[in-house]
Amino acid sequence: MTSGHVHSYETLGALDGPGLRLVIFLQGCPLRCCYCHNPDTWEVAAGRLTSVADISRRIQRFIPYFGNRGGVTLSGGEPLLQAAFCLEILRECRRLGVHSAIDTSGGVWNELCRQAGELADIVILDLKAATSELWQAITGRDAFSTLLQIIAEFRASRRPVWVRQVVAKGLNDSPEAMRELTALIAGLNCERLELLPYHEMGRGKWEKLGMDYAAKHLQPPTPALLAELRQALTAPRGV
Ligand code: SF4
Repeated sequence: MTSGHVHSYETLGALDGPGLRLVIFLQGCPLRCCYCHNPDTWEVAAGRLTSVADISRRIQRFIPYFGNRGGVTLSGGEPLLQAAFCLEILRECRRLGVHSAIDTSGGVWNELCRQAGELADIVILDLKAATSELWQAITGRDAFSTLLQIIAEFRASRRPVWVRQVVAKGLNDSPEAMRELTALIAGLNCERLELLPYHEMGRGKWEKLGMDYAAKHLQPPTPALLAELRQALTAPRGV
């Protein structure tokens, strides 16, 4: 059975998918988001080398707590950077009858990622920005076309997705940015759309790693601003 690099686990998390979930944070990310709160996940070879059998045993311990709606979410880092590992975990979830989700930022896509995306019950698309320029400014990478390809495929397949975007003052806090987001996700089978307020909780990790925090210029949005931006979205369910 395949093994992969795991950063950490969150048991019974309620934010990353429906119901109560075991969130498995996988190691590795191709992006370098300025506000990343998990820079310690960036290197794929770090973290604990873990077999799917070990993960399966952990999943089985939590099955009684998942209830009707909960399950397993693969997050990161960027989980699809270890797509073969994701696929094996997702197959194991299917075998156990456990609901599965992948939380991806859309920075990597290939045939294995595609298979993982099809096997997961829900894909959570963490859209950093709705335009190429802003996406590149946030992520430090020139891969917006990869995200566009993923969206086009999901639009065609009608696969259910949740969409989320971090909002920060001085970054994407304009009604225009919300209109661009609405346009980007038009035609997706979007079950839920969330705006998440930027926070500074990752800053300490950057400093611990000896890195200069790259989002010093950003500020969290006020609740009133967030409400205003939510109104600017043409809302699918769950905003
Ligand atoms: S995609 Fe997520 S883990 Fe990767 S750099 Fe961005 S915020 Fe960090």
